[in-house]
Amino acid sequence: MTSIADRLQAVKTRIADAAKQCGRDPQTIQLLAASKTNPPENLRAAWEAGQTVFGENYLQEGLVKIKALADLPIEWHFIGPIQSNKTKLIAENFAWVHGIDREKIANRLSVARPDTLPPLQVCVQVNVSGEITKSGVDPEKVAELAAYVSELPRLQLRGLMAVPELTAVTALQREQFQQLREIFEQLKQLGFNLDTLSMGMSEDLENAVAEGATMVRIGTAIFGPRRYAIPEELGSRQQ
Ligand SMILES: *Cc1c(COP(=O)(O)O)cnc(C)c1O
Repeated sequence: MTSIADRLQAVKTRIADAAKQCGRDPQTIQLLAASKTNPPENLRAAWEAGQTVFGENYLQEGLVKIKALADLPIEWHFIGPIQSNKTKLIAENFAWVHGIDREKIANRLSVARPDTLPPLQVCVQVNVSGEITKSGVDPEKVAELAAYVSELPRLQLRGLMAVPELTAVTALQREQFQQLREIFEQLKQLGFNLDTLSMGMSEDLENAVAEGATMVRIGTAIFGPRRYAIPEELGSRQQ
């Protein structure tokens, strides 16, 4: 059986190869381990193999793991959809939030961020696929939301995030990553100080790297197929 350490190494090799293909320095691409549905032992195994950044999608499940792994200085990212009644616990327990898609959520996170912690590092999520089921702000409204987020005292806007529609057609997939990158460049030209383009998952990290991703969020390629039945001790997936 392939171990988490082996899979992690294979993902790093994929990132390095993809970077080389387009003349980028692999060091400029950060690897976030998307660990939803995995028990704490799997995250610990990844940590022991050198992984320090983990992303969780569901608050209750994430909190269980943050507690179970409190002995490790993990950098925790919240990468799931955010409901307003969860903002306080997210602001208190995570270092980063990737899914900012409306003012109300951003404001609540800023208000709830404890003064004892550094500002919450955030990305605005953009709906690049146009699917109505996907969260994220419309591309035309990103600049307005970015301006709002930048003014909030306890948030630091780092960049943009997207979960593009997975398509078998590579060109269509790349178009979505390209669209996110173009919005990113436009915002920088408008004067926003951004360094994070969070895009690319197990199936499509090569395309994302080719289009400028600075952070790829990888789950199944590191941990293996997800177990959808969540053990009781991981808490409820309901948000
Ligand atoms: C699950 C998840 C990932 C990782 O997906 P894989 O296909 O397993 O690599 C990345 N980003 C988000 C927002 C996710 O929910």
